[in-house]
Amino acid sequence: MIAKKMVKYVEGSSVIRAMFEEGKKMAQKYGAENVYDFSLGNPSTLPPKAVNQAIIDVVNNEEPNRVHGYMNNSGFEDVRDAIAKSLNERFETDFSEKNILMTVGAAGGLNVILKSIIDPGDEVITFAPYFGEYNNYVANFDGKVVAVSPNPPTFQPDIKEFSEKITAKTKAVIINNPNNPTGVVYSEDTIKELAKVLCDKQEEFGTAIYLISDEPYRELAYDGVDVPYLTKYYANTIVGYSYSKSLSLPGERIGYLVIPDVVDDFENLVAAANVANRILGFVNAPSLQQLVIKKCLDESTDVSVYDTNRTLLYDKLTSLGFECVKPQGAFYLWMKAAEPDDTKFAAKAKEFNLLLVPGSSFMCAGYVRIAYCVDKKMIEKSFAAFEKLAESYNLNN
Ligand code: PLP
Repeated sequence: MIAKKMVKYVEGSSVIRAMFEEGKKMAQKYGAENVYDFSLGNPSTLPPKAVNQAIIDVVNNEEPNRVHGYMNNSGFEDVRDAIAKSLNERFETDFSEKNILMTVGAAGGLNVILKSIIDPGDEVITFAPYFGEYNNYVANFDGKVVAVSPNPPTFQPDIKEFSEKITAKTKAVIINNPNNPTGVVYSEDTIKELAKVLCDKQEEFGTAIYLISDEPYRELAYDGVDVPYLTKYYANTIVGYSYSKSLSLPGERIGYLVIPDVVDDFENLVAAANVANRILGFVNAPSLQQLVIKKCLDESTDVSVYDTNRTLLYDKLTSLGFECVKPQGAFYLWMKAAEPDDTKFAAKAKEFNLLLVPGSSFMCAGYVRIAYCVDKKMIEKSFAAFEKLAESYNLNN
């Protein structure tokens, strides 16, 4: 008998991963070149060459017991110091190694910080549509997700509703910028308004409300759009970063948390996050990858590849009569389903071998997410299938 709590998780197990498996089966049946799998956010670009070189350098030249040994739960001090300096240069911040905690990707970082701050029944606010795993991460610590409703057509957070949903039990707010699944980048104005509401509410309730900025897509932004660095706008901000997308290394499980000096209860929070990293079973972030990252701080995957895919897909889908949000970041396109039921719409798309994720998986019915981190040729080849999908709904007629 598995734990009762797990039964729920298993039943609700990710629709996206299920689609990915389905895609593999369809590829066997129809031939991989005839299936257009836009379901999973798995980077299609290569890690920069410098990553391979760094792995070789570290393995060949560093002391093996350092490369493969245990360390402080927060990670190698020199790596954290290098990350802090790099952030200070980029964002005019003032971090040192004591503000950085190396994590097992963004997912590891989110679990560490939530474990550090959430008591059972505490509320965590987030903005729909949002990455469905937040529900599971918060439930891991018996917290409660409170979702702010989707705000079409811009999908910028609805600040009024946000303000109304904050209570004395609100312990944290998670925002994800650039956003999965909408591809929207929250503007500086939005962030300023959000910060103001948070400051006012902290005062009103006499509580600390942590703003957790989940930023695995920070480097994936287009048209020169600015992605605000949130610690500058609100003192109680914790940043969760990951190299999964910026360096195309999702399997390596490497990222970090930034916990600024000015956050409420700083010393205790850092101590708690260290212990959380250990007792969640991570112990520390992968040692080899930490050392590799230190050598690759100025590297990025080739974002222009995603940019090309973004434009190609957006132009085609809108020309076919689909309503889309023009993505400014990440590698997702958010499209209105051509019928109210997004699950039925995704099922219809599947008839043309198009795998799109229903918006309900992100707590926002009536839309689908199209992950364009795929080969450009596949996008071009998928156009005929999208044309048939549009025809089946009489779009553009
Ligand atoms: N947060 C968001 C919004 C994501 O989309 C993902 C992964 O797709 C994660 C967190 C987890 O990232 P990581 O692979 O770094 O754990």
